[in-house]
Amino acid sequence: MAARELPRSAEVVVVGGGAMGASALYHLTTAGCRDAVLIERDTLGSGSTSKAAGGIRAQFSDELNIRMSLENIRRFERFEEDFGVDIGFNQWGYLIMVDEASLPAFRDALELQNSLGVPSQLLDPDEVAERLPQLRVDDIAGATFCSIDGYATPESVLQGYVAAARSHGARVVQGCAVEGLLTDRARISGVRTSRGEISTPTVILTAGVWSVEVAATAGLELPVRPEVRHVWFTEPGDPLPRELPLTIDFETGFYFHREGDGLLFGGREASLEEIAPVATHRLPILEELGIRPGWWGYYEMSPDHNALIGAATEPVGLLYATGFSGHGFQQAPVVGEYLADVALGRTPAFDLTGFAVERFDGSGSKPERHVV
Ligand SMILES: Cc1cc2nc3c(=O)[nH]c(=O)nc-3n(C[C@H](O)[C@H](O)[C@H](O)COP(=O)(O)OP(=O)(O)OC[C@H]3O[C@@H](n4cnc5c(N)ncnc54)[C@H](O)[C@@H]3O)c2cc1C
Repeated sequence: MAARELPRSAEVVVVGGGAMGASALYHLTTAGCRDAVLIERDTLGSGSTSKAAGGIRAQFSDELNIRMSLENIRRFERFEEDFGVDIGFNQWGYLIMVDEASLPAFRDALELQNSLGVPSQLLDPDEVAERLPQLRVDDIAGATFCSIDGYATPESVLQGYVAAARSHGARVVQGCAVEGLLTDRARISGVRTSRGEISTPTVILTAGVWSVEVAATAGLELPVRPEVRHVWFTEPGDPLPRELPLTIDFETGFYFHREGDGLLFGGREASLEEIAPVATHRLPILEELGIRPGWWGYYEMSPDHNALIGAATEPVGLLYATGFSGHGFQQAPVVGEYLADVALGRTPAFDLTGFAVERFDGSGSKPERHVV
């Protein structure tokens, strides 16, 4: 069937072609589903995925995030071998600088990470300066560094998953928006799209920040709000090492990493004028580098900065994954596999039930503190 044709029915419909939808689609096919369709409103990767900085880290504070990261990192390490796609995974580490106030929480997280097998370590300001003399370190208490962390190219990961899924029979329809979820007696019965209806008993909703509006058409409330995040680039020729860790000033959220022959940098500010004092305070040589315009995209923020992943109680057959709060790209391998397993009634390798939206009904939230 040509990609522009809309199938009338499918075993599973995946809504949204970002990293998460692509991973879910791929894992559906490897789990034996021969009738999966991904519907993308625009083009593959056009949401947050193509805007991401590509960071991949095991340095989280939440135990499940750390465990998942170890597996995700293994998958990214093997990606080229498994999919024949170079994803540019540079394991040059994450260096996270913290002040006195944040240090105790980072020490606790480090202890937890180490107990789970993550080789993260604490550096004092002198050790940070030895690694990166261009940084200002006189007002930091230290930094954590983890050598297995790094960054890759999100679009390449997405394309790797989609190509493999297609080769296993999955269909991808772009330029087609899901306008509503269809239900029958409290179960999913299909989706209504801008090009017609598809009947299906199972929908995997991976529409990024836009999942909120799609879920609402079936009465499911997902507490996720969009947060705009900008990145910029520098001209080539900086004096920083080629193998640069993804370096973060935790208090301000300013971060940078190697991108081509220059740097990519970003933070919480919405304009170059606003980020300039924050950025040049920590990395003074930025003042001497030419700056190229970048882009902006959405973080999908959840109330406790942890993902929302699960199967709706009602309607039955609706699975969702959103609210990644700035770390959705790197969680795509394991989360996509989880969604596929749940959709097909298989026992998932990772139990991600702790991420279900019901945690906000009083059972307590699941805070992730290492949010950039
Ligand atoms: C500046 C920036 C830096 C980031 N850096 C990192 C990082 O370093 N590491 C990291 O892990 N994450 C990072 N993120 C977060 C990451 O980009 C997201 O968490 C991740 O891409 C989410 O993927 P997704 O597939 O869930 O959503 P998206 O990539 O947003 O994909 C959702 C797709 O659904 C489609 N869609 C929406 N509505 C509909 C509809 N009604 N019908 C059909 N299709 C629809 C959209 O067009 C879109 O393509 C960053 C984000 C930004 C903005």
